[in-house]
Amino acid sequence: MSCATKSGASFQLAAMIDGIHKLEACATVLTFACLLATAAEPKPAAELVTLPGRTMGTVYSVKFLQPSAPIPVEQARREVSALLDRLEQTMSTYREDSEICRFGAYRGGDWFAVSADTARVVAESLRVSELTGGAFDVTVDPLVRLWGFGPRRETGEPPPEPAIADARRRVGWGKLQARLDPPALRKSSPEISVDLSAIAKGYAADAIAAHLEKLGATNYLVAISGDLRTRGHGQQGRPWRVGVDKPLDDGRAIQRIVELKNAAISTSGDYRNFFTDAGRRYSHVIDPRTGRPVTHNLASVTIVQETSARADALATGLVVLGPEAGYAFAVKRSWACLFILRTNTGFVEKLTPAFEKLR
Ligand code: ADP
Ligand code: MG
Repeated sequence: MSCATKSGASFQLAAMIDGIHKLEACATVLTFACLLATAAEPKPAAELVTLPGRTMGTVYSVKFLQPSAPIPVEQARREVSALLDRLEQTMSTYREDSEICRFGAYRGGDWFAVSADTARVVAESLRVSELTGGAFDVTVDPLVRLWGFGPRRETGEPPPEPAIADARRRVGWGKLQARLDPPALRKSSPEISVDLSAIAKGYAADAIAAHLEKLGATNYLVAISGDLRTRGHGQQGRPWRVGVDKPLDDGRAIQRIVELKNAAISTSGDYRNFFTDAGRRYSHVIDPRTGRPVTHNLASVTIVQETSARADALATGLVVLGPEAGYAFAVKRSWACLFILRTNTGFVEKLTPAFEKLR
């Protein structure tokens, strides 16, 4: 497997608006805003700290309200940045020396020692694979590369059928195991490799949230591209407000805004990372059951969950399942989801009942 170093277009970018604060973005996008509200008692608002930066080929923004024992901002900035660097180094398919790439190149069947984070994120990936009947599949890497959505983005047209069949033989989450103690991965087929692109940013948002809690923050919002995790409220007690992108191929607009308290939200879609051939749109989300990118008219799925890793992975899984089966799947599990479909007459929204309640 050819893990190349690249600062990566496969990770999503996010736009964030905090009043007027804005970061540039280029893929599945969530936008969030913290609106000022009038407090009944005029007491000074806690200071809102914003730590912007870049990670995993995209942008992040960490916001927290200073608790009564203030967190040293420089320390928080340094630690958040170091944590993200560490996760990127271990989980990126764009770096040949990452644990994930080294595990992909390893051909043996013994337990392969990895960091606790990698073991945890792969274990969570396997749970989501099972939950979605393999629609989300953390071993989809050979197909992602074959279709040109990996580190080398060189296609623009569908690969030949035998190559698809060959790559499919090298995919299968059932051939992968994760162990937490001591942390390690194991494969029952030598060519199994791992692609964490659909869950790593969510996992990283959870890790930052945990770190902020350790520092004493109880009101925060962590956004890495289209994956957000919130707790508590923004300035002057108002809930964090999160904007869901209109799934436009270019340009940017907000489809709708939701208010979140202690929850994570993620969007996955086909509108930033795709190619077209013979009038067909081929998305970077691959259906492991067919070995092909999804080609249905589902432009994006947004889902609210407790953790960001789960939301990130499920958003991708629901995109694979598609506008009907995915929607029914989400309704059955009472998940709060927004499906946006592309039709001849524009975008059409499908909200699950749980999402309706968020409004
Ligand atoms: P983004 O990359 O924009 O954050 P997603 O979270 O949906 O969007 O992740 C998509 C990425 O996940 C793809 O670029 C690919 O690397 C990988 N991927 C594609 N299809 C699947 C799948 N069925 N299961 C798991 N990962 C996938
Ligand atoms: Mg995802």
